[in-house]
Amino acid sequence: MVGLIPSSSKDEARFHCRRHPKRPMTDTSDPNRKNYRPDTKLSVLGRDPFAHHGIVNPPVYHASTVLFPTVAALKDPNARAPGKVFYGRYGTPTTFALEEAVAEIEGGHRAVIVGSGKAAVVCALLAFLKAGDHVLMVDAAYQPSRHFGSQTLARFGIECTFYDPLIKPDALQQLIKPNTRVLYLESPGSLTFEVQDVPALAKVGKGAGLTTMIDNTWASPLLCNPFALGCDVSIQAGTKYVVGHSDAMLGLITGTMDSYPAVRRTFEDLGYSAGPDDIYLALRGLRTLSVRLRRHQEVALELATWLQRRPEVARVLYPALPDDPGHALWKRDYKGASGLFGVVLKPVPAKAVAAMLDGLKLFGMGYSWGGYESLIVPTEPHLLRADPSRWRPDHPMLRIHAGLEDPADLIADLDAGFARLNRAAGR
Ligand SMILES: *Cc1c(COP(=O)(O)O)cnc(C)c1O
Repeated sequence: MVGLIPSSSKDEARFHCRRHPKRPMTDTSDPNRKNYRPDTKLSVLGRDPFAHHGIVNPPVYHASTVLFPTVAALKDPNARAPGKVFYGRYGTPTTFALEEAVAEIEGGHRAVIVGSGKAAVVCALLAFLKAGDHVLMVDAAYQPSRHFGSQTLARFGIECTFYDPLIKPDALQQLIKPNTRVLYLESPGSLTFEVQDVPALAKVGKGAGLTTMIDNTWASPLLCNPFALGCDVSIQAGTKYVVGHSDAMLGLITGTMDSYPAVRRTFEDLGYSAGPDDIYLALRGLRTLSVRLRRHQEVALELATWLQRRPEVARVLYPALPDDPGHALWKRDYKGASGLFGVVLKPVPAKAVAAMLDGLKLFGMGYSWGGYESLIVPTEPHLLRADPSRWRPDHPMLRIHAGLEDPADLIADLDAGFARLNRAAGR
């Protein structure tokens, strides 16, 4: 963790450790810190108690100006190296702590932190594209990512083609043009939860010399390691499961040894940065990510299984269900499922769906997800796809985020909701 601790604090750390020789150390001198299993990494990375008076969590540095004692120190080219404290926008030890922890847990080289997940998408794309280039973006990408691809990139002379999330590698190969530079994935797909064959598609990308990037928000850094699957860049809306409490927005981009420098340069050039208090909330969220995700999956599976048996439901879209079309790929590539899934209802008037949702007590209605609380929104993927043919407007759809509540209470809430739906539909 280069530069996390100023050298004077390191001396202090040694002093403290001498005074407490039996204390287990979790600081940079622990040669094992990057070899622990993921759950242990969540606990030990990005903090160094004995550099900070033994306090468990790292301090929050608030900074714009950073002072240098001499002209030589100010002008030293090394002063701006990654992990060095040079200017507030480029990060402080608070930033570096989260960067290190996320990159390690996700299996990448280094990470940058930006102010939102959308900013992470934008920064990652701009890092590898220039006027005249072409990008292949999955049709099931998060809608604001699609919008950036089709609108803003077009303004700068970059063409964006949306490809089928279930495309076969051979067909993807056919879409690659001489000016294609980036292959963009998001798996499972936004709202529709198709699982992409990430290793097979990334292999096509690699063969053609493309930079393959994936929006890994659904899985969080913990449940999918995109680098082991052949991706070059991983994007996260830290807003969702890393922060985990619906109280801060953050974006994370992790790169490999090869891809990171371009991401870092672009991040600096765009002037992106994230506030220290939000970064602190993400570091705090990280500590409980594993237990929260396991519970999100458990609750989601109970809800999804119950929903599958409802007469009002046509299909539940959740790769963790054994009969989901993406189940085999999910099982192969993911260590678990998060709590976000889709529901396709049988044809029913829109006012009946509204009657169901309007009266829910435990499910909040609103955008974003990944917090401790359950959420529900109606979705319309047929309006958000280059190829809308799989999604029919007469089949209303829902997106559910299973929170950490007792599933029995959530099911009772949904059950009462279906009673309202049926009444409003005149059944
Ligand atoms: C929410 C989300 C984003 C954007 O994150 P914000 O922090 O809301 O900007 C990007 N990708 C996916 C898959 C998301 O769910």
